[in-house]
Amino acid sequence: MNLERYKEIVSEITPYGARLVAVSKTKPESDIRTLYESGQRIFGENKVQEMTAKYEALPKGIDWHHIGHLQTNKVKNIAPFVALIHAIDSLRLLEEIDKQAQKNNRIISCLLQVHIAREETKFGMDPTEIRSLLDSPAYHSLGNIKICGLMGMATNTEDEKQVGKEFAGLKSLFDNIREQYFSEQPDFKELSMGMSSDYRIALKHGATLVRIGSEIFGDR
Ligand SMILES: *Cc1c(COP(=O)(O)O)cnc(C)c1O
Repeated sequence: MNLERYKEIVSEITPYGARLVAVSKTKPESDIRTLYESGQRIFGENKVQEMTAKYEALPKGIDWHHIGHLQTNKVKNIAPFVALIHAIDSLRLLEEIDKQAQKNNRIISCLLQVHIAREETKFGMDPTEIRSLLDSPAYHSLGNIKICGLMGMATNTEDEKQVGKEFAGLKSLFDNIREQYFSEQPDFKELSMGMSSDYRIALKHGATLVRIGSEIFGDR
C-alpha cells in the first residue's frame, strides 16, 4: 500500500470537487484501516462475500460501495449496509435491490451502468435501454431505491483520445438524462468514471467519483 500516492491522488481529485472510491478488493483489512485512519471513508469492493466480511470487521464509519457486476441472488447480503451500488445493468436487478431495501427499511442509492467501451465484454446498458428503463411503469413503482447518477468503464487502451471520447459521451448522456428525468431531483448528481489508468481523463470530463485500486494498494 502506498500512502504517499494516496495523498497525491486525493490532492489531484479534490480541486475537481470529485471524491475517491478506494478500490480495496483482494486487499487486507489492515490496508483499509490505514487509509481510514488517514481520513478515507469510501471503499469499493466487487465481491459480495468479501465486502460483507470486511464490513463486519472494520469501522462502521466506512461507506461501502459495490462497484462491479452484481448478481441478483447476492443483493440480500449487502442490502443492510451498502452505501452505493455502482453498476445497475437491468431492471430486474433494480427490482431485487428495491425488495431487499424494503426488508431492511432502507432506501438504497444506485447508479445505472452505461456501456461506453468498445469491448463487447464490459457490462452495462446502452442509452436506449437506460431511457426505456426510466420510462417503464415498473421502475416508477419502486419506492426503496434512488438513482443517483451514471457509471461507466472506458475501453482498456493506451489511446487517450479514445478514452476521452468515451468519457465525454458519458458526460453528455448524464447531462441529458438529468435534464430529462431528474430535473427536480438534486440527488441525481454522481458520475462514476475513471480508474487507476484513466482517472485524470475522467476528471477532465466531469467525473464526481473515481474508482482507484492498484495505484493506491499496488497490483492485484
Ligand atoms: C477493480 C475495479 C476498479 C479499480 O481498478 P484499478 O485499475 O485497480 O484502479 C474500478 N472499477 C471497477 C468496476 C473495478 O472492478
